[in-house]
Amino acid sequence: MLRELLEARKGEDLDLWARTINPQFVRVLRTIGFDRTWARAEGPYLWDADGNRFLDFLGGFGMYNVGRNNRRVREVLVEALDLDTPGMLAMGTTLLPGLLAEQLIQRAGGRIERCQFTSTGTEAIEAVIKLGRTATKRTRVLSCDHGFHGLTLGSLSVNGNPEFTARFQPLLPGCELVPFGDLDALEEQLRREDVAVFLVEPVQGKGVNMPPPGYLEGAQALCRRYGTLFAVDEVQTGFGRTGRMFAFQHWGLEPDLVPVAKSLSGGYVPVGALLMSRAVHEAVFDSLQNAVAHGSTFAPNELAMAAGLATLEVLDDERLVERSAELGERLLAETLLLVDEFEVVREVRGMGLMWAIEFGEPENAGRRSYRMIERMQPGLFAQLVVVPLFSDHRILTQVAGHKVATIKILPPLVISDGDLDEFVESLRQTVAGASRMPRALTKFALSAVGAGR
Ligand code: PLP
Repeated sequence: MLRELLEARKGEDLDLWARTINPQFVRVLRTIGFDRTWARAEGPYLWDADGNRFLDFLGGFGMYNVGRNNRRVREVLVEALDLDTPGMLAMGTTLLPGLLAEQLIQRAGGRIERCQFTSTGTEAIEAVIKLGRTATKRTRVLSCDHGFHGLTLGSLSVNGNPEFTARFQPLLPGCELVPFGDLDALEEQLRREDVAVFLVEPVQGKGVNMPPPGYLEGAQALCRRYGTLFAVDEVQTGFGRTGRMFAFQHWGLEPDLVPVAKSLSGGYVPVGALLMSRAVHEAVFDSLQNAVAHGSTFAPNELAMAAGLATLEVLDDERLVERSAELGERLLAETLLLVDEFEVVREVRGMGLMWAIEFGEPENAGRRSYRMIERMQPGLFAQLVVVPLFSDHRILTQVAGHKVATIKILPPLVISDGDLDEFVESLRQTVAGASRMPRALTKFALSAVGAGR
């Protein structure tokens, strides 16, 4: 049925999306030249309807760690469908969720002993807030400036970016921001002993901001001292993204709460989970009456569980976590050269295959045009790199900073050495072109500003 339907309506993707889902989004795609019709995908590659191959260095915002349409995950999903598993019992249990929970608990280690499944990352964050407050009988929640944890109202309340939050006030009371990396500011708040949870991304997704040395370990120690739960958001950094199964393992941390999602199901089925200590769980689910104090209809979903088990197996069998660490080191070493090569490149930073490049006003050549572009819209220079990377080099990346010109990548961990070389060389050529700021680019920048309004 699907084959015929897709064939009959072929090519209507953008118009239909504009008419029925979101016309403004389609307008943005058309302005920046991202308005392709996509035909198929495999691993780190996407093909458009004209047969052009694109390198996907965005990875569906980081949900394709094992690559798009991973064969092994697909086989397991088909197997799960063929088995006619019982599905959602609601008042009952099945085996698959327990098996995946067991794997996640074992891999997280430390204090983690329980797993509450959700369907998305933002729901896992909602659970951090709700369960964390109930378990501690405290109401304040701290999170960091520039932090991102999802877009539902609870998660938005702990979001550190005014461009996401300003229009949706008032949000949850008791949620406050502290500067990322500042232990003194954190302690000043925690000292009041009324903070339920401190929620932090180990590496901030927006802009790939790295924690200063000692920060995360110090934050954990302060949380312990003042009775606050330490929550590390691994929705984006989890499952090998930074070169460890979970990023918190780089620093030997033992968080009380660990929300995960994105890549857990290989990108096939919506999934999320809140991994937590037994103490938190037992404080919330503390009686027969409270046995179902939190949950939702679709979680845990059987297909998501099957895909999750397969994804963990692929990460192990293909050594993708180690591969992410190795490729990440090479990527950093090779792109560090760009800082010397181009005045406009201010910094490259990253961990594993979570990487960003930040631009800044050059001292000499190109200074005037850089200023002009940034005056139109702060951070706009990054678009002058993302757009030709896509249209001329067929590499998909994203602008990742607000007001600061930054580009970020989250490629599938299955990229080849050649894919990495192709990215670095294309980036070099594109930055060289953007620094020269030809008239066509400036014209594009002007129309992009118009479309963004
Ligand atoms: N937390 C982090 C660190 C994220 O990057 C995201 C999404 O990008 C979320 C939470 C929210 O996850 P979801 O988009 O599945 O709701």
